[in-house]
Amino acid sequence: MTLTRNYDTLYIDGQWMEPASSDRIDVVSPATEEVIGSAPAASRADADLAVAAARKAFSHGPWPRMSVQERASILRRVRDAIAERREDLASLITDEMGSPITQSVAIQVGAPLSLLDSYLELVESFPFRDIRTSSSGSALVTREPVGVVAAVVPWNVPLTVAIQKVAPALLTGCTVVLKPASETPLTTLALAQLFHEAGLPQGVLNVLPASREVSEYLVSHQGVDKLTFTGSTSVGRRLASICGQNLTRATLELGGKSAAVILDDADLDATVEALRLGSLRNSGQICSLKTRLLVSNRRHDEFIDRLRSLLGSMPVGDPHDPATQIGPMVTSRQRDSVQGYIEAGKNEGATPVVGGGEAPVDRGWFVDPTVFTDVTPDMRISLEEVFGPVLAVLRYDDEDMAVDLANHSPYGLNGAVFTSDLDHGVEIASRIRTGTVEINGNSAGFHAPVGGFKDSGIGREAGYEGLEAYVEPKSYGLPYD
Ligand code: NAD
Repeated sequence: MTLTRNYDTLYIDGQWMEPASSDRIDVVSPATEEVIGSAPAASRADADLAVAAARKAFSHGPWPRMSVQERASILRRVRDAIAERREDLASLITDEMGSPITQSVAIQVGAPLSLLDSYLELVESFPFRDIRTSSSGSALVTREPVGVVAAVVPWNVPLTVAIQKVAPALLTGCTVVLKPASETPLTTLALAQLFHEAGLPQGVLNVLPASREVSEYLVSHQGVDKLTFTGSTSVGRRLASICGQNLTRATLELGGKSAAVILDDADLDATVEALRLGSLRNSGQICSLKTRLLVSNRRHDEFIDRLRSLLGSMPVGDPHDPATQIGPMVTSRQRDSVQGYIEAGKNEGATPVVGGGEAPVDRGWFVDPTVFTDVTPDMRISLEEVFGPVLAVLRYDDEDMAVDLANHSPYGLNGAVFTSDLDHGVEIASRIRTGTVEINGNSAGFHAPVGGFKDSGIGREAGYEGLEAYVEPKSYGLPYD
């Protein structure tokens, strides 16, 4: 299989199908600004076909009725195919959205592999059925697939988020219509190829690159039982209201503005090293990054010195160069938006201690990685998701103030505590209103649920909770013994 960069067809009903219209989506490399490939843009008619195919596969096809082990064996084949094509997929993702190549290999393709391993292990012991008996009755309780799932995903981690949704949906017996972001249709169509070659039955997975308008049509489709969405809070709100009207089930993974609380007893060298990927992975374009750094007045200056060295050790440039640690922003719009936040930070009185200018390049959508200090909690760079390499340092007087600052956000996705006292770190973490908190830079891994409090979303992915999101519990009353 070659990973093509030009598609003429859409993946619907287990076939590569001619699209209903001649509209196309060009994919532009953020590093070179050149068109590197293209894909058809699905129309409403294609969305109708894809939902009908997913419905037919769900109602009459073998997939929901297969054993979990049979379904898992197909996903295991996809897992092995991704592992085999790791370098090619990584290179494609770097072409499409500019992720530095070493991170594309390790994270953009590494994370989906770990996610698949986790889901394949957890599904073995997932309680698809159990018997419950009490004085009030006896029941068989089953967890049945929710049905046809529309999965709408962002461009920043295209393979990871697609697998995050498709794997638990398919393992529990659902069928899926997957709508990639317009920036990254090629990675998603490559994934369709891998599923096709792994022998996935007809109609179980359909992939539709499409405009926002067609995407919204898909979400509002009467044939869709569940939406699983990852993206911005503003689009999530809009899609949630459509789901509310139709009573479509919805899982929403939205934006973040996560705080790292650096306690006075933290090892600052280790802390700052953890922030290399923890705050600046994917050039700052990850929802869970710690972009508000909270440090006490006592340790502020030494922390800033270390941040200066950290940024100095992160080369910005060609994302295909293995030395590069920060690449371009995904689009010129995103570059302009991040640049706008850098200007806003300066205008609101924050001090840039690193960067703060414009990237010295003549092509590619690069920004100057920037660290601001003297940031106050109501500045835009502290409240809003920048989605670029821009960090805000806020000072605190005591730990209560640090917790208040961490919680001073509409978001509640992720957080971090750095300390040499683990128990105390967990206690501080328990006061932070977010779906996950990392202690000393440790991620909870994919057996644990991820998701947001507050404006960061509704529902959870990964872990058993990620599988639960795709089932409806159903009770059968049984005769008493
Ligand atoms: P986005 O909300 O603009 O788009 C997300 C997806 O929704 C894309 O496929 C897009 O084409 C589609 N879309 C956009 N408008 C739509 C509409 N009106 N109707 C239907 N579909 C529509 O987000 P983005 O710019 O692609 O991604 C960045 C955002 O995603 C950030 O806010 C980031 O925090 C968030 N994100 C969250 C997580 C998480 O796990 N919580 C993970 C990755 C990214």
